[in-house]
Amino acid sequence: MGSGGLVVMDHRNCMVEVARYFLEFTQNESCGKCVPCRLGTKQMLEILTEIIEGKDRPGDVELLMELSKGIKSGSLGGLGQSAPNPVLTTINFFRDEYEAHINEKICPAFHCKELINYRVIDEECDGCMLCLKSYPVGAIAGEKKKTHFIDTNKCIKCGTCIELCSGKYDAIERIHAEENS
Ligand code: SF4
Ligand code: SF4
Repeated sequence: MGSGGLVVMDHRNCMVEVARYFLEFTQNESCGKCVPCRLGTKQMLEILTEIIEGKDRPGDVELLMELSKGIKSGSLGGLGQSAPNPVLTTINFFRDEYEAHINEKICPAFHCKELINYRVIDEECDGCMLCLKSYPVGAIAGEKKKTHFIDTNKCIKCGTCIELCSGKYDAIERIHAEENS
């Protein structure tokens, strides 16, 4: 941001979250002199946060675009004039990701915590107990040599288990929360 840096992303990056991340930065940096920048970026940040949390907000894409237009034209400084750019760019190139969050309550990148769950794949789990011994909040249960399972009510979606299991067994996967709702 503002320094010509290059960030490489792949399918595991949620573009709505990327837009939210950059907007949070500019929102914090706003000096507050111009009302559209001071209040508009705050409102945009709230909308983006609700989208990644799966809150029901039809029409948000259009609202974000409208707010962007007002902030860009109504701000005196370069920060306000460019703050909405990450949102407009991601809407332009990845609008389907916004629509998936809003309309289907799905994060295509399996990134947004409110929209995913973790699950043990029965046929892949060796019952090695690695995830069980290292679990942070007691969300995993199981016996030696038997398939483990995850209690989604206790899971805080930290991803520790998937890191521990991946590479050796790959027995834990992220799924859309919708799949077991
Ligand atoms: S680390 Fe993987 S293979 Fe081992 S018990 Fe946990 S889920 Fe099963
Ligand atoms: S994601 Fe974290 S809290 Fe959830 S089951 Fe895995 S290790 Fe436990």
